Amino acid sequence: MTLDEIKSAESKLLLGTYDRNPLLFERGEGVYLETPDGARYLDLLSGIGVNALGYAHPAIEHAIAEQSRKLLHTSNLYYHQGQASLAARLTRITGLDRVFFANSGAEVNEAALKLARAYAGLRRSEGAPLGTKILALENSFHGRTMGAVAATWKDKYREPFAPVMPGVEFVRFNDVADLKAKFSTDVCAILLEVLQGEGGIQQLSQEFLTAARDLTRSTGALLIADEIQSGMGRTGRWCAYQHYGILPDAVTLAKPLAGGIPLGALVCSEEAARAIHAGMHGTTFGGGPLACAVAVAVIDAIESGHLLDHVTDIGTYFRNRLQQLARNHSAIVEVRGLGLMLAVELDSADLAKHVLAEMMKRRILINRTSETVLRFLPPFILEREHVDTAVSALSEILSEQPAVAAAPAGGTHHAR
Ligand SMILES: *Cc1c(COP(=O)(O)O)cnc(C)c1O
Repeated sequence: MTLDEIKSAESKLLLGTYDRNPLLFERGEGVYLETPDGARYLDLLSGIGVNALGYAHPAIEHAIAEQSRKLLHTSNLYYHQGQASLAARLTRITGLDRVFFANSGAEVNEAALKLARAYAGLRRSEGAPLGTKILALENSFHGRTMGAVAATWKDKYREPFAPVMPGVEFVRFNDVADLKAKFSTDVCAILLEVLQGEGGIQQLSQEFLTAARDLTRSTGALLIADEIQSGMGRTGRWCAYQHYGILPDAVTLAKPLAGGIPLGALVCSEEAARAIHAGMHGTTFGGGPLACAVAVAVIDAIESGHLLDHVTDIGTYFRNRLQQLARNHSAIVEVRGLGLMLAVELDSADLAKHVLAEMMKRRILINRTSETVLRFLPPFILEREHVDTAVSALSEILSEQPAVAAAPAGGTHHAR
């Protein structure tokens, strides 16, 4: 089928959850995606931070081929080789103790929320005063299920589905006084992204994360870091909290974990894990042999390829180039981010839309979040030449738009 035929078929057959870009991809290699007629696109979004090793990585191909010849699925009623091998790696790289596997980000956040409620229940049975309230942050994104979405900030994700899970309160981002005011023994967990993704690449302050750690430690509530987007090396460390010298009680991982095969992991402390016993929680598909084998291959490839150092180096180069660009273009309000989780905030949503469309015309894929923010989540194998290509294109697009900065707010002439 051609793109137009697919578009027309989907418009009649699918729920309208997505307003897709008019691009049809058939294959990928390295940092490039390719359409059926052979047009190559430089992918600086990598499937929303999933394809950390790019496309057609030999380690992933090999792991899939090998495992597909042996075993794809057994259910969690039996043992297979993959979960212990992967859990050994995940506990080593996160500094935590025990793992629960599921299939997506939302699903492991759901598991984390259930863990927090169960752990608070256990502590209450042991005489500690601990309630059921969850604190989340303004501009957070934790996923679309009824629990995860309850902890997600934007009304548009929650309101059509009300009532979502009750008991969540939102704290102003990086506002320690607000955190302290809302924290009490009623709270069983603080759920936060150390580096907010969907919220526009906003980084927690050391002061805020330290306060969250100290408060939760003082009552026994859990500090849960959602590193679904920022984890697995994207910021140059395995987890973004490792830049702060702080260890949460639980961390959730997903997007890049199995290099494009669906997999999520909740990793938690031995203490929190006391709350969970056989039969309380589960999943049919989670932690299957295929996903585990691929995730092991991804972690081993990141380590053998020294990709954490590479992400730091190339991320610093990319950020510096974007900062240079900002000095020459007043439409750039701010450049933010860590490693290869970067953002350029522009002074108007229309301009951001326009830049996105122009980048696409130049066969470079980026993304827009929080209206005015251009988001970059490229594969870890990115090289300087790719950064140079992207920054030149951005420079060209912003230079061609001298009228934009002066355009009236809400003007539509760029939304072609
Ligand atoms: C993408 C994302 C999720 C949700 O993951 P899904 O796999 O889409 O359910 C949760 N938290 C963060 C920080 C994310 O970026």
